[in-house]
Amino acid sequence: MMIQIDGSYGEGGGQILRTSLALSLVTGKPFEIHNIRAGRRKPGLMHQHLTALEAARQIGRAVAQGGSLASQSLTFIPSAIIPGTYHFSVGTAGSCTLVFQTVLPALIQARGESELLLEGGTHNPFAPPFDFLAKTFLPLVSDMGPEITVRLERHGFYPAGGGRFRVHIRPCSELRPFHLKKRGEIQRCSVRALLAKLPRHIAQRELKVIGKKLPLPGAVLRTEEVEDSRGPGNVLFAELKSEGLTEVFSAFGERGVTAERVAGKVVRDVKEYLAADVPVGKYLADQLLIPLALAGKGSFRTLRLTRHTRTNMEIIQKFLDRDIRAEDMGNGVWEIRVSPSDKAAV
Ligand code: AMP
Repeated sequence: MMIQIDGSYGEGGGQILRTSLALSLVTGKPFEIHNIRAGRRKPGLMHQHLTALEAARQIGRAVAQGGSLASQSLTFIPSAIIPGTYHFSVGTAGSCTLVFQTVLPALIQARGESELLLEGGTHNPFAPPFDFLAKTFLPLVSDMGPEITVRLERHGFYPAGGGRFRVHIRPCSELRPFHLKKRGEIQRCSVRALLAKLPRHIAQRELKVIGKKLPLPGAVLRTEEVEDSRGPGNVLFAELKSEGLTEVFSAFGERGVTAERVAGKVVRDVKEYLAADVPVGKYLADQLLIPLALAGKGSFRTLRLTRHTRTNMEIIQKFLDRDIRAEDMGNGVWEIRVSPSDKAAV
C-alpha cells in the first residue's frame, strides 16, 4: 500500500521528505508526497532535496516519479538497499549533511559496508553543521551498534559551497536502544570561532562576547582559521561534553549580522541548555527520533519540543509501528519515549 504524506503538515519543511525517504528505504514501503515544503518561502524541491532523493533512489534501487526542481509532489517506490561506494553532490551550497542523514538509516543496517563521498554545503544555517554530525549525532548512533567514521575534506559555506566529506559505514544487524535521561556535570567545554577568508576581528569579537556573557569555568576559547574553502565563512561553535554525549551549539556569521549578534545566539542556546539540565538539545532531539524508532524502544530528555520534533514524531509513525510519546516534565524539560505500538504486538 502506498503511504500518503502531506508535506505541508506541521513544520512543513524538507525534513518531512527526508524522513519519508529514509524510512521508505528501511521498510521497503513506497510513499506518495504532496505539498512538499509548502511551509517554506520557496516551496517545492530545491537542489539539496533533489540530491537527497537521488541518493535514496540509487541506494534503494528505487523508482521515483515527479521529482524535479520546484516540484511539490512525488512518488517513491524502493526495491532493495544496496550498500557500496557512492558519490552525491548537491551542486550548490545546499547542505550535504542533510543528504547524508537521509540515507544513513538504510546503510547502518544494510548487508555490507558503504563508503560515501558527499559534496555541497558542510556548514549551513538551518542544517546540522559537519561538526555537529561528527561530535554529537554520529557518536550516539555509533553507540547503538554500527561503526561510522567521517572525515571532512573541505569546508563548504553558503553561498560558494564546494565542501566535501567522506563517510565509512560498517553496519550492524540490530540497533541497541538507549535511555539518555540525565546530563550530569559538564566535564569539558570549548568555544571555537571558525573563520575562512574573513578578517580575524570577527572571531575576536565573537569570543569576547562569549567570555563576557557566558561564564563557562575552564572553557577554552579559540579561533580556527581555515584556508580550504571555496568562499568565505564564519561559524561560532560551543561544545559541551557531559557523561553521555557532547552537544555542539552553533551560529553562523552572515553579511549584515554583527559578530556580537552571532555570539548572542550561541549564548542564548547554551544558557537555555544549561538551565534545563537535560542531555539532548533541541536540534539533536528531532534527529535522534529516527535511530531510536528503528531500535524499537528507548527514551531521552530534551528541551521544549520544536515543531521539527513534533512533525518528525508523526511522520515516523506513518512508516513504523511505534508509539512515540512526549511528556512535559515541567521546568522546560520534556521526555520522549519510543516503544513498539500495540498495533505491532497484535
Ligand atoms: P528542515 O528545516 O526541515 O530542512 O530541517 C532542518 C534539520 O536541520 C533539522 O533536523 C534540524 O534539527 C537540523 N538543524 C538545524 N539547525 C541546526 C543546528 N544549528 N545544529 C544541528 N542541527 C541543526
